[in-house]
Amino acid sequence: MGKDNLTAVLYKINDLRLEQTEIPQPKDDEVLLEMSCVGICGSDVHYLVNGRIGDFVVTTPMIIGHEAAGVVSKLGKNVQNLKVGDRVAIEPGVPCRTCSFCKHGRYNLCREVIFCATPPVHGNLRRFYTHAADYCFKLPDHVSLEEGALLEPLSVGVHACKRAGVTLGSQVLILGAGPIGLVTLLVAKSLGATRIVITDLVQSRLDVAKELGADKTLLVDRNDDEPTLVKKVHALFGDEPDITIDASGAEASTRLAVLATRSGGTAVLVGMGPPEIKLPLVQALAREIDIRGVFRYVNCYPAALELVASGKVDVKRLITHNYDIKETHEAFETARTGRGGAIKVMIHCDRS
Ligand code: NAD
Ligand code: ZN
Repeated sequence: MGKDNLTAVLYKINDLRLEQTEIPQPKDDEVLLEMSCVGICGSDVHYLVNGRIGDFVVTTPMIIGHEAAGVVSKLGKNVQNLKVGDRVAIEPGVPCRTCSFCKHGRYNLCREVIFCATPPVHGNLRRFYTHAADYCFKLPDHVSLEEGALLEPLSVGVHACKRAGVTLGSQVLILGAGPIGLVTLLVAKSLGATRIVITDLVQSRLDVAKELGADKTLLVDRNDDEPTLVKKVHALFGDEPDITIDASGAEASTRLAVLATRSGGTAVLVGMGPPEIKLPLVQALAREIDIRGVFRYVNCYPAALELVASGKVDVKRLITHNYDIKETHEAFETARTGRGGAIKVMIHCDRS
């Protein structure tokens, strides 16, 4: 094994450095991974540009990256489920396993979860990284490592659709056609949603949504008032959606989620916008709209992997740009600006 462990370390706002770090040794229940690729998530860009997300603040240098896949290069002594050479997707959050949330199967709510690149926990944009072996998912030969990395956002879509109760015949409105809105679209389709309308402010993203199977798209006009927007949405459905999933985080979308959903339906909030916003709550109350939150995913990696491995879902179209780890700054610039129609920017750690 070479000594090179090139690593992307975020020191502070707009100060991301590539430097060598020590190759870690796997603990007994961990594996050492030779990292293959890491997708850039909106949250990574947010930490770079703002140094914080809510209460999570970058106060000490933090290795960035959490949408990743790699190849097992060394086993901790207790590891049974993997062998050297296995290609794996990495579920980036490892919970405590013993608290009541973990025991009830809602480990995404565990207060002790260690989640890659959520300060102060280091992420995995580097050549070598150690991870809990049972949070690594072996990829079948025909599933690429890039697809493995995309299981992370795809799992958010799986969890959002589960929380929303998407099922055969569902009419689903998705607000926002970024990576999260698009994976939600793919999962909703695979679950049997028969009508899916997706919105965005950017036409090129809606074009991709159409390619991925959205029935109708709506380019949101910021000048439209709310009743007009609701009318447009309902006209596109020819009905009212029974489920709305906000994947934008914009206050206007969160409000629309409540206003446009059919009485008795469900509004699921995935997008993270400002911590406090104004909502038409009496509408939600009087029309019995269930508002449900989504925090990452829980027990979703196996389903996400099955969706990809079976060919039911094709996530590859989300990747618009590829960079080498040495080009990390450029990769982040592309993700930050969205230049060149960027949707998912992938960084490869094993190409140079
Ligand atoms: P993104 O910024 O790439 O996509 C958001 C999209 O929403 C953009 O295409 C934008 O043009 C669109 N948009 C903005 N305002 C809009 C409006 N008023 N109406 C319609 N569309 C609008 O981000 P992403 O990576 O796709 O993530 C989406 C959101 O989900 C972000 O807020 C992110 O923080 C959040 N997120 C939450 C979780 C969770 O666990 N809850 C996990 C991952 C991401
Ligand atoms: Zn726990």
